[in-house]
Amino acid sequence: MSSIADNIGSVTRRIQKATLHAGREPGAVHLLAVSKTRPPGELREAYDAGQLSFGENYLQEALDKIDALADLEGIEWHFIGPIQSNKTRQIASAFAWVHSVDRLKIARRLSEQRNPQLSPLNICLQVNINEEDSKSGCTIGELPDLVAAVGELPGLTLRGLMAIPDPDQPEADLRSSFRKLAKTLQQLRTDHPDAGPLDTLSMGMSGDLEVAIDEGATWVRVGTALFGTRPAKS
Ligand SMILES: *Cc1c(COP(=O)(O)O)cnc(C)c1O
Repeated sequence: MSSIADNIGSVTRRIQKATLHAGREPGAVHLLAVSKTRPPGELREAYDAGQLSFGENYLQEALDKIDALADLEGIEWHFIGPIQSNKTRQIASAFAWVHSVDRLKIARRLSEQRNPQLSPLNICLQVNINEEDSKSGCTIGELPDLVAAVGELPGLTLRGLMAIPDPDQPEADLRSSFRKLAKTLQQLRTDHPDAGPLDTLSMGMSGDLEVAIDEGATWVRVGTALFGTRPAKS
């Protein structure tokens, strides 16, 4: 079995190769280690191998790990799971980034609840790019109003868009989903120049990070390829 450090090495090489292949700047793509269900010891192992950014989906599990790993200097926590409005206070205080904001109510609460002593919370708007019934995320049609409103919130920095395309579609369709997200971000940047940096595309996971990078991903969210297959959720 390969170690987490080995896996970080091979995923990093995949990212570098895809970045080069896409003709993009070295370092343009960041690796988010998706550590849901993994015990703190495994995150510590990844950190010791140089990984600083971790993505978590479940709030209580994340808070326990944030506490257990408080000694790790420079560690950065990203929330990537569905958000219930009664959980925003804890999310606003414990994380540096939230990739899964999909409605104004949640954005407002996160902004109000962000401690003004901290730098504004970096957020991405999650888009339900394939309009699947089962998925969270706003529609592309909802984005212009959402971006205009979120861009005004003082506790947030609007960094960009996130999507989890339907993984079962053929590669060509997957690629057009990523491309659609990238084009949408470009258009929003043009139409809403003051809403925030809008410099981030959070897209691509273990199985499709090369395609996502080719289409402009700036964060790839990788779990399985770093930590192995997750136990089935009970
Ligand atoms: C679990 C998860 C990932 C990681 O998926 P892998 O296929 O294990 O790399 C990425 N993004 C989100 C939102 C997730 O929930």
